[in-house]
Order: sequence, then structure tokens, then C-alpha cells
Amino acid sequence: MKTPPNRQDAQAAADTLGIPLDLDDITIREVTKRFRAIAREVHPDASGNYDLGPALVLSRAIDAKKVLVRWIEATTADPECPLCKGSGFVRSGRLWSSAPCPRCS
Ligand SMILES: [Zn+2]
Repeated sequence: MKTPPNRQDAQAAADTLGIPLDLDDITIREVTKRFRAIAREVHPDASGNYDLGPALVLSRAIDAKKVLVRWIEATTADPECPLCKGSGFVRSGRLWSSAPCPRCS
């Protein structure tokens, strides 16, 4: 079993992604939106900037997204959901593009 992140870690992750919402109001949709905005901004393939700084921002954003997704899973997703099996996320084939589960979020 996965252990859900504690509230403090989830809050730190929300701050990393710049999500101004209360933790209990954060949705997968919002996390995905913020993460994509950051990824677009700093990913070397998008920005042409291969410096370490942006790469670090991206790797922190990836970690923060994982923490928040686990937080949201633990607090909102339906564990019996047949679409996402409780993850709150469905895969769509493209890079960075797990989509919010249409049934849970
Ligand atoms: Zn679902």
C-alpha cells in the first residue's frame, strides 16, 4: 500500500507548483494545469535552455506533482473507480499528459 503524504508535504508541493488554493480544494485538474504550465516554461525541449536551473525546477515540479496526486488520491479519488482504479488519473499517450479521470474529477 502507498502511504499518503502528510499535509505539510502536500502544502509544500502546492507551494512548489504555485497553487494558491486550500489543500482540500486542489483538484487533479488544477495540479495538471499548473504542472503543464511549468513544464512548458522550463523544459529544455520547449525553451531551448539546457541550463541546470530550469532542469531543477522541472524535477521539483515533477516531485511536487507526484506528492499532490497521491494526496488527492488519498483524499478524493474513488478507490472503486473502474476508469482510473482510484488513482484519479487516466493515461493519455503523450508525454506529461496523464489526464484527470473524467469520473473522479
Ligand atoms: Zn476515476
